[in-house]
Amino acid sequence: MIQLENIRKSYLSAGREVVALSDINLRIEQGEVFGIIGRSGAGKSTLIRLLNLLERPTTGRVILNDQCISELAEPQLRVIRQKIGMVFQHFNLLQSRSVLDNVCFPLKLAGMSRQAQKNRALEVLELVGLADHAAKYPRQLSGGQQQRVGIARALANRPDLLLCDEATSALDPETTQSILKLLREINQRLGLTIVLITHSMDVIRQICHRVAVIERGVLVESGDVLEVFLHP
Ligand code: ADP
Ligand code: ADP
Repeated sequence: MIQLENIRKSYLSAGREVVALSDINLRIEQGEVFGIIGRSGAGKSTLIRLLNLLERPTTGRVILNDQCISELAEPQLRVIRQKIGMVFQHFNLLQSRSVLDNVCFPLKLAGMSRQAQKNRALEVLELVGLADHAAKYPRQLSGGQQQRVGIARALANRPDLLLCDEATSALDPETTQSILKLLREINQRLGLTIVLITHSMDVIRQICHRVAVIERGVLVESGDVLEVFLHP
């Protein structure tokens, strides 16, 4: 499904090269929940920006469904980005828009008609259990409900891949459980491939099939969750 081949990513910072990732080789299969775990500064954000095509690798290739996408021009990338849904730590909802309009937003960007936007938005709000809250504003919802709106918005364009960036890190343990349960249901019901970035071992254990451990820009281990965590 998605493949990272010999990826290196460095930044120029005050005239010096900062290596954020090196020698990254990774293959994420269709339909799996794949976790990427590492401490702060390990390179997780950089990895996610490579996967959602906001950044290009310094060297190496990103391959999506057999197509090398790291060398595509910007207009083509924009089309592919619509097939990648993003869920954020702090939800990133528009506070001045209703729940419905927040979910409609990516559909509007994709050029869908207003009526079709609404129909699709209600469909995904139903999926996350919030159809009754469509007319409310984000501030009227709990953190967990806001994250459900974030997930609905990420699903609106019927993505091929869902990227979750510390999606439960701002939530209490109980709410974390319900969001992880929802993500698991989405994976099972829609067969959607999910990549989840986290610093929490618990999150990985509860929902991921496979995991990669990243330290100082290098993948130090990857494999089935049970194998990686039973033989540290
Ligand atoms: P994480 O998300 O795991 O905290 P990051 O990917 O943000 O890690 O960062 C990995 C390394 O790359 C860090 O040393 C960070 O300072 C550096 N880095 C990330 N983004 C930039 C940037 N835009 N310019 C310079 N250095 C960066
Ligand atoms: P997060 O809290 O999501 O891990 P980060 O702190 O890693 O976010 O990064 C926030 C933003 O700052 C990113 O866009 C990243 O590119 C940039 N950034 C991170 N480290 C550096 C750095 N050393 N120099 C310049 N920009 C950086």
